[in-house]
Amino acid sequence: MKMKILLTLLTTILFVSSFAQPKKAGANKEAAIQSVNSHQQELIAISDKVWAFAETALRETQSSKVLADYAEAQGFAVKRGVSGMPTAFVAEFGSGKPIIGIIGEFDALPGISQKAQPTREPLQAGAAGHGCGHNLFGAGSLGAAVAVKELIASGKLKGTIRFYGTPAEESVGGKIYMARDGLFKDLDVCLDWHPNPEIAASTQSSQAMIDFIVEFKGKSAHAAADPWNGRSAVDGAEAFTHGVNLLREHVLPSVRMHYAIKAGGDVPNVVPEYAKVWMWVRDSKRSVVDEVFARVKEIATGAGLIAGVEAKVTVQTGDYEMLVNLTGAAALQKNLEILGPIVYSPEEIAFAKKIQEVQGKDQTGLDGEIHPLKDTKEHPEGGSTDVGDISWNVPEITLVATTAPKGTAWHGWAVVACGGMSIGHKGMLFSAKALSMTMVDLFENEALRKEIRTEFDQRKGNVVYKAYIPEGLAPVPTDSKPALK
Ligand SMILES: [Zn+2]
Repeated sequence: MKMKILLTLLTTILFVSSFAQPKKAGANKEAAIQSVNSHQQELIAISDKVWAFAETALRETQSSKVLADYAEAQGFAVKRGVSGMPTAFVAEFGSGKPIIGIIGEFDALPGISQKAQPTREPLQAGAAGHGCGHNLFGAGSLGAAVAVKELIASGKLKGTIRFYGTPAEESVGGKIYMARDGLFKDLDVCLDWHPNPEIAASTQSSQAMIDFIVEFKGKSAHAAADPWNGRSAVDGAEAFTHGVNLLREHVLPSVRMHYAIKAGGDVPNVVPEYAKVWMWVRDSKRSVVDEVFARVKEIATGAGLIAGVEAKVTVQTGDYEMLVNLTGAAALQKNLEILGPIVYSPEEIAFAKKIQEVQGKDQTGLDGEIHPLKDTKEHPEGGSTDVGDISWNVPEITLVATTAPKGTAWHGWAVVACGGMSIGHKGMLFSAKALSMTMVDLFENEALRKEIRTEFDQRKGNVVYKAYIPEGLAPVPTDSKPALK
């Protein structure tokens, strides 16, 4: 009898608690997961096509078209060629608030063409390859957007979903041009993900950086017969780089300065008329980058005076550091925990271990686990990203997901290999699910959106976003190799 009462009580508690659960949220997330599952083959096909096209920054014509065409076929209104870049596009579905954005990249890297196999062999010698996994990035984000679109179409969610096709991450940073033009401004929240050796709701920032050219113009003369009539542009460049190297000791330890000499005369017996240095300054804070850049500009002026030549500094582009949003990351983390780890087949683990063996790394295989949220580092290591610029316009939530084994050299052939087979596909589909589930939260939960916005406002403070790039048209493709961030 006692047992019976206990059972009745338990049933009642279970009934009440299940009744109290936000059932709708569960159902919509479940529907989002099912959507990604039902489009799985299409998403893999898109990713594989972009992987095979392997088009570099601003030349991603076919890759951009595959993604934009699919969005259009799925019922999105697509605007192509935004911000003056033929391969940039925006795909939108739904109407009114909230407006949730999601980013997709698709540019490849030069010179690292690779077959989808665990030993080094180019698909086409000297050609480009997806060494940063952007083929997965674009297709995965679009898969998430389609899942949300279906929920809006069936009336289960209200608002607007917007997918941004953002080109040239590996060079000029297409997002900076789109941010400069205000394309993200009306979003409530923006999401992105990136291929990685492990899964995480990102709590880390990135490096702010400025990319600029320093040119020196002198006067040519015979280097032996009348050098006094000449003024050497190379002297200007040498004085400049020397000045920069003296400056190194007097900047914060978090500052990084690196340059390449792009032009420095042609022959020894002519006083060089022209010299060109391409330089980047980075720090974990844009405010520090600005201070160092001001000093570097003075050094350029000083170098011009020393050599008696003209010195000119031209800013090409630059990234803000990522403004992290821990409220958003925590919401994403919950969905990662619901999804659980990525499970790999013995063949996939063997593929990963072979790569690790070839690269002389520990043969740990793949990490598909869900780890706890990490603490935010004040000075994170690593490179820069143009997602940083978006994150100062609207709150940004970033996921990283496993698409390659640990220890793999990024921007390298092994990342290309994994991105063209099931290891990469699994990471992409996992990301599409996790991001669509988090977007479901954002659409359904106004309080969460407010909390995310409050944190964004606090972190941003009174900083007014201003892109490093000058006003005017976006750049057109050139023959110069894209810079790798
Ligand atoms: Zn990348």
